[in-house]
Amino acid sequence: MNVPSPLAFTETMTMPRTVTIFGATGTIGVHTLDLIGRAPDSFYDVVALTAHQNVELLAKQAIAHRAEIAVIGDESKYHALKDALAGSGVQAAAGEQALTDAAQQRVDWYMAAIVGAAGLRPTLEAVRQGTHVALANKECLVTAGELFMGEVAAANTVLLPVDSEHSAAYQSLDGKPTDGIERIVLTASGGPFREWSRERMSAVTPEQALAHPNWSMGPKITIDSATMMNKGLEIIEAYHLFPVEASQLDILVHPQSIIHCLVEYCDGSVLAQMSCPDMRAPISYSLAWPKRMPAPTARLDLAQLGKLTFEPPDDTRFPALRVAREVLESTGGHSTVLNAANEIAVHAFLDRKIGFLSIIKIVESTLELAQSHTNLKDLTTLDEILDLDGEARRLAQSLLPKFAI
Ligand code: NAD
Ligand code: MG
Repeated sequence: MNVPSPLAFTETMTMPRTVTIFGATGTIGVHTLDLIGRAPDSFYDVVALTAHQNVELLAKQAIAHRAEIAVIGDESKYHALKDALAGSGVQAAAGEQALTDAAQQRVDWYMAAIVGAAGLRPTLEAVRQGTHVALANKECLVTAGELFMGEVAAANTVLLPVDSEHSAAYQSLDGKPTDGIERIVLTASGGPFREWSRERMSAVTPEQALAHPNWSMGPKITIDSATMMNKGLEIIEAYHLFPVEASQLDILVHPQSIIHCLVEYCDGSVLAQMSCPDMRAPISYSLAWPKRMPAPTARLDLAQLGKLTFEPPDDTRFPALRVAREVLESTGGHSTVLNAANEIAVHAFLDRKIGFLSIIKIVESTLELAQSHTNLKDLTTLDEILDLDGEARRLAQSLLPKFAI
């Protein structure tokens, strides 16, 4: 393994930097702190770390990284967090307002690694401060893409994609003019059921769906990868991040997850980014941007790999791909509904309330119900979007008994 030396850090970076991590106890948060922990002591100054409920890990991280403040979203855990931090010098806080306050504290770099639309409000707060935001939380853009990107433009801040495909596209573009782009192709591993029939998928258990072949990730995104809704969400994410039309975005199944994205230009040239599947690669890119930092990721050995394979996506077996595309061609409100319904359905599957194939059925039924119940157009404010998100969650929830197992 390549262990970065302090010398390499000094040569490649011009820090120190103040950093805040929202969702510090999740997979992305832990990887981010791993990278920060490998840097020389004075490089990163951790300001705030946040989590939803995991007091024990949050306190441990905050003490180890000498954070100024640790915030737990679940207010009932405030005393547990305060006790765990007693004598450490790290301040404890809890609840939604405390999360907002922490996001409003200006830092050099903010990692948005909360899962789901719950990350939208704090990430927008960070954007408004002009903080450079590393965006792992794709649901922000699916829920409120236009509003979110409008705020990024208004604050004139830097948004650094962390999702591996979007980081790959960002790295391939690398500040170049974008008018010659013909296509952006996001690769997909295909997940654990890439070769399964619909019939076989009907009996899938949460344990089977949680066993991703290439990536170790939080439960929600792992289920999204199994249904391939993850790629649907990522097409919507890419649409908001890059100056292309929906028709210029494609998906290519690539089971080895080595090439993360391909950017094709009008002269037929394709620029792609490759690396072993380890989220510390795109996270380190966002952390060191505009430079590079050493990362302890495995080095790519193409001779040993021998071959890379590719297949077209199959939206008959994986209808989430079709649904996400239809949503992208509709108004932004459809995208808000898609995300909310998917969050409810994925949790219901993980709680063993519904079967695997019902996840997408609930998403589709919620979209149909929302058409008749609510106004899906002209959503301009955050409150309007969050109202629709809440309404879509209620509709999806009301459908669960119909699909109960
Ligand atoms: P995770 O489930 O491992 O962690 C989620 C984090 O968010 C935890 O720290 C949790 O405490 C916090 N959180 C959850 N609900 C919250 C709430 N209501 N309020 C405040 N905090 C809350 O998830 P993850 O795999 O680290 O993914 C995080 C985000 O990054 C997701 O949006 C995911 O799609 C995206 N992403 C992850 C990966 C990956 O490899 N894990 C890759 C690409 C993109
Ligand atoms: Mg991805």
